[in-house]
Amino acid sequence: MFRHLIVKRKKIKRALLFMLVVFVLSSGIYVVKNEEKLSDYRQNMVSGYSVYINDEFIGKTIETGNIIDMIKRSKKSVERAVGYTPEYDYTLKIVPTKFGKDEKMCTNLEQRIRYSMSRVASLKKEGYVLKVGSTSVTLDSLKDVEEVIARAEGRFIEDYNSIKVVLEKDEHNPLVLIPKSTVMAKDLPSERIFVSSSLIDEPVEDFRSDDEPYFKSVVTNIELDRTIIVAKTPIDDGQAVDVETALNEITKENQTEKKYEVVAGDIPQTIAKKNNMTEERLYELNEGLRENSTKIQIGQKLTVMVPEQELTVKTEEKVIYTEKIKHENDYVPNDEEYVGTHTVIEEGKDGLLEVRALVKKENGKVISEEVVEKTVIKEPVKGKLTKGTKRLPLTSPTGTFEYPVKQYRFTSAFGYRWGRLHKGIDLANNIGTPVLASDGGTVIQAGYQRGFGNAIEIDHGDGYVTKYAHLSKILVSVGQEVAQLEHIGAMGNTGNSTGPHVHFEIRKDGVARNPLDYLN
Ligand SMILES: [Zn+2]
Repeated sequence: MFRHLIVKRKKIKRALLFMLVVFVLSSGIYVVKNEEKLSDYRQNMVSGYSVYINDEFIGKTIETGNIIDMIKRSKKSVERAVGYTPEYDYTLKIVPTKFGKDEKMCTNLEQRIRYSMSRVASLKKEGYVLKVGSTSVTLDSLKDVEEVIARAEGRFIEDYNSIKVVLEKDEHNPLVLIPKSTVMAKDLPSERIFVSSSLIDEPVEDFRSDDEPYFKSVVTNIELDRTIIVAKTPIDDGQAVDVETALNEITKENQTEKKYEVVAGDIPQTIAKKNNMTEERLYELNEGLRENSTKIQIGQKLTVMVPEQELTVKTEEKVIYTEKIKHENDYVPNDEEYVGTHTVIEEGKDGLLEVRALVKKENGKVISEEVVEKTVIKEPVKGKLTKGTKRLPLTSPTGTFEYPVKQYRFTSAFGYRWGRLHKGIDLANNIGTPVLASDGGTVIQAGYQRGFGNAIEIDHGDGYVTKYAHLSKILVSVGQEVAQLEHIGAMGNTGNSTGPHVHFEIRKDGVARNPLDYLN
């Protein structure tokens, strides 16, 4: 159609212009500059077009009708390659040209256009999105991504430099990368031999000792849970964050503790379902719930979420450590020592056990430990002790307090009475009723005291003193040792007393205490 119009110059010029305007309008991008005048018409020439993109000559063609399709296809091809839609910055020029009849036209125009389009596509900067659960961060380079992952994992490993992170292409989506981590650490020594090298006359380094406890572990495997992916993405300037920021972002605790209030009809199973959790997890978060699962109450508050990191780092460690083997003792009876006392004749020595185990951890928390081997590296040595067989003296304090009267009426309690502190308790019975020592001890007071009448005080050691007042008779004297429940006096009505009773006090370091807190 074009070819027919070429003869009429003005018309063809207009038609061409019209076509180009249509290009411009339909694409919104194409601008045509620099028209050449079609003035040199010669018989032996054919009319065609020279195609330029950004003033770079692309090729010659007779037809122009399919150039737009070529450009569209080229763009698609670029987009497939980069994985997103770039912006294109270019000027397309289609210049009417006369060619010699024998001149060959460009046969690979589309290929050339495609190449050119891939060069004018303003490719955005490429970055990577690291997605951990519901958190994602954008980073500049794979190197940064690898460092963030290694450091996130390394928080639970002594030497994070031993972690090597490799990003493997996902088989289903080449734009997605899955991190695989390996740790390169020296293994634990396998045998308990201290070898001397023949070349350098020094012992091979071994942290173990026959006497001192030790602990050593090496991480043999490290794994992230499957919720972490890395995807290639176009990014704008300033969109990527640095390694430190990314690390903080993906390792922060991003949940808050959440409680659930039990409503009518709830059982653990339904509560778990309502809160999108497993029944097992509900039990885990609520101590004692498993045992009392049938006793939950309406209004009871259960924990259904605790703050935790979305990133779970699972490690497997080989561990070697020592455990003490406690020594036993042989006992030699000794009738010169009181029951319950011992004297060391020969000191025993604890032994040492070496334990090898495989430990699995999640975010540094031990999940399981499997003991692989136990080796006794030092046998314990039995000790030799005496064993006292002598009966304790009756007057020794037992450490417990008994009521000083067998039968009584409780007539007054400890505490404030008429604005004054009543420093003991009053136990009433007839005059002459035996008064007994509350515990074994030494008599430190026995005689008449103003207000108290005939009174006794006994020191039980450890700061404890008991007092017995208003007695009719005192049967002990100062310095005398008395046994628990020994008869020390008789109930009376001496001193400030309104009837036969014993006023009984227990003092600790000089301060009166409520006897009822001590009495059996
Ligand atoms: Zn009293």
